[in-house]
Amino acid sequence: MTASILRTALLALGLLVCPLGGALAQETRQAPADHVALPVNVVPERYEVEITPDAKALTFAGRGRIAVTVRASTGVITLNDAELVIDSARLEGEAAAPKITYDAAAQTASLAFGHAVAPGPHVLDLTYHGKIYQQASGFFALDYVTAQGPKRALFTQFENSDERRFIPSWDEPARKATFRLTVVAPAGEMAVSNMPIATTQALPDGRQRVTFAETPKMSSYLLFLAVGDFERIHRMVDGVDLGVVVKRGDTAQAQYALDVESQILPWYNTYFGVRFPLPKLDLIAGPGQSQFFGAMENWGAIFSFEQDLLIDPRLSTEADRQAVYIVTAHEMAHQWFGDLVTMAWWDDLWLNEGFASWMEDKVTDHFHPEWKVWLQSLMAKQGVMQQDAREGTHPIITPVHDILQASGDFDDITYSKGQAVIRMLEAYVGEDAWRAGVRRYIKDHAYGNTTTNDLWAEMDKGAARPITQIAHDFTLQAGVPLITEAGAVCEAGRTQLSLTQGHFAIDPDSTHASEWRVPVNAATLGGAVSGEVVEGFSPRTMSVAGCGPTVVNADQTGYFRTAYSPEGLRALTERLPELSPYDQMGVYNDTATLTYVGREPVEPFLEMTVRFSQFTPDPVVMSGVVGRLAGLDHIYQGLPGQARFRAFASAIIQPTYQRLGWEKKAGESDNDGLLRAATLRALGDFGDPAVVAEAHRRFAGFLADQKSLDAATRRTVLEIMAVRADAATWDQLHGLAKAAKTQLERREDYTLLGLAEDPALAQRALDLSLSGEPDVTTAPGMIAAVSERHPQMAFEFAAAHWDRISPMFEPTTIAGAVPRLLSNATDLALIPRLDAFAETHIPADARQDVAKTDATIRYRAGVRTKRIPEIDAWLAANVK
Ligand SMILES: [Zn+2]
Repeated sequence: MTASILRTALLALGLLVCPLGGALAQETRQAPADHVALPVNVVPERYEVEITPDAKALTFAGRGRIAVTVRASTGVITLNDAELVIDSARLEGEAAAPKITYDAAAQTASLAFGHAVAPGPHVLDLTYHGKIYQQASGFFALDYVTAQGPKRALFTQFENSDERRFIPSWDEPARKATFRLTVVAPAGEMAVSNMPIATTQALPDGRQRVTFAETPKMSSYLLFLAVGDFERIHRMVDGVDLGVVVKRGDTAQAQYALDVESQILPWYNTYFGVRFPLPKLDLIAGPGQSQFFGAMENWGAIFSFEQDLLIDPRLSTEADRQAVYIVTAHEMAHQWFGDLVTMAWWDDLWLNEGFASWMEDKVTDHFHPEWKVWLQSLMAKQGVMQQDAREGTHPIITPVHDILQASGDFDDITYSKGQAVIRMLEAYVGEDAWRAGVRRYIKDHAYGNTTTNDLWAEMDKGAARPITQIAHDFTLQAGVPLITEAGAVCEAGRTQLSLTQGHFAIDPDSTHASEWRVPVNAATLGGAVSGEVVEGFSPRTMSVAGCGPTVVNADQTGYFRTAYSPEGLRALTERLPELSPYDQMGVYNDTATLTYVGREPVEPFLEMTVRFSQFTPDPVVMSGVVGRLAGLDHIYQGLPGQARFRAFASAIIQPTYQRLGWEKKAGESDNDGLLRAATLRALGDFGDPAVVAEAHRRFAGFLADQKSLDAATRRTVLEIMAVRADAATWDQLHGLAKAAKTQLERREDYTLLGLAEDPALAQRALDLSLSGEPDVTTAPGMIAAVSERHPQMAFEFAAAHWDRISPMFEPTTIAGAVPRLLSNATDLALIPRLDAFAETHIPADARQDVAKTDATIRYRAGVRTKRIPEIDAWLAANVK
């Protein structure tokens, strides 16, 4: 699964949880006993299921034959069931029907047979019916508008535990079985599932019965079905039928994704050392959106919302092209990491998500080194290190008691810290040794379930540098190590660095951890990298080749913060242009973070910021600087010093604006396109007169002729106009949304309306979100857009209309919906209000996002009340 792009972008801007069970037999690794689980005395082997949807009525009927093995004699068989009504149940060979009882809270159905069922193989026959939902969980519908009128398509989304809304089943990752799925679908519509179609039978009533080939043994959350008026483009690559499935008319926009898929598959086959095991792999586009996820790695049938898959030359920017590449790479990595080899229980979710997040950059960097995705990933790392230093953080491997808790762990600790820790461990053991360990792990655990220790065991087999201890330090405890450079002395052409280890915490009680074994790489400017594992608290000396400015955490592969001595930091700032882009970004992020929490005075941070305007940094680095200034401006909102800060920030960005302007230049790097968009948006936010005037001029041209702007300029102009809108402009933007030709365009244009700085227009966007005019999957995005500049207003609106808004969110993700609306807030008074909302509306064990948001508000309020006055003083003294 990929987190929804909107969320990831906000977080990158910074803006915004014992080693598990010992080795068991290869095939089924039991999950730890301390979580809600079904009895293990009955094991599912094979599901043969026929589904008959009634898309109009939003219901479906199911018939299932489930082959099970009864391991120990029992009178009751209990399985997972959420909102499914079992109409009939019978064990084949038995006349009597069992008594069926349901436990809605535990999401189970129990079949009591009134006598002991003997150990051995049995077949359970069921007929049942259920709901088709209108938000992306379980079996769900997405509605969209075409020239021929409104249409509806059906899809499934089962991670983490919603397959039980589709089949009464053993819906746990370690209860793997095979699935033979059949669907009765309207003739003329296409049905897609994990496996290719085996048979299609025309029915007398004009419908068709489509049966798919049987899946290999897999976890229930990976099952997939879609039915709709689709088209499919495809190509054979490496013996696999690669396809992209889109709604009728969108095939031109699917070509890019097919090329991406085709490029990545052979590379993954080689990297993992085990070939993709299914005969086909489809990417399926859904016309809608979720606040929680953007794509899902169903085996052989990756589902993505359209904005994560389609490329429309009128609308899609360079950022979209990179995002589609990376999302596809992420979900394809899961075909091995997650689908072929699956974690035994959700406390090892990072084995899926940390690895897929790491692999997405690995393959993207291989085929598109010019995008510098590892450099871009430093912003995500920066964001997660903030979270990991605040209340609400958790170890990467966190005990998960139930499925609601599991949902809360699809967060940045699991994804981005997971990615960063893997990158650090790979750098520590070396690329080849790491790949060899991955290959052993995949080969030895194919079709099985694992815990994280299984991976470390494979990694350490024959390893020159065992990693288990280091890996435990970073995965079994939360928090961010701090390496302090207390001084550097040049002796005989080598630098003797004095280092101590500590703990970087924004909230001291955020973790009990205090000590790590930290792989530290250090280098002087232009010197060779030296590496050591820093452990323990006693000061130590590290000898590094060469003399001069020295970077601790060279190339930024380490997951730790560095605090430099004043002399060390000054030397790095003076020679900043000579540092690698990675180290420029890393040193800047560390310095800014230590400044924001008051561990450093504001001068070095502000002087380093000025330094970036005195040379031409890599566009990714400069995007980071622009993002940081835009983030500070949000915290400055409404304060007397904001105008002067904006003048300062604009001056820092001016050279970039002068260099890039508005138009794409021949031969410019793709990342210059991303930087241009970030620069114009920030200058628009700051009210830069030249940029605002030009945006108005181009907007007027666009209203007259929508072909007058290329995709990137269109988005930038519309975003600037939306933020700075007056009522007339807002109405024009609203008009564009209503007239939008495609689902993608409609979603984007309605969401824009929420960006308005003017509170009255922001309120109009909120009211419009519940008007029924935008579709139900777009409305939550509009409310989230309002929360960017008006967090309190968005929160109050959501709380006041919770009965109407809550049905728009997926059941397993609803717990984070409202807390996230306040992640841009700076007012401490909102914390008790959020807590009060949580008390009433969020189950006690699913309040991870409440704790995180409370900590974020405290942190931002601290920067606003403590640091901004210091920044104001510096600006008054240094900016004319
Ligand atoms: Zn994922």
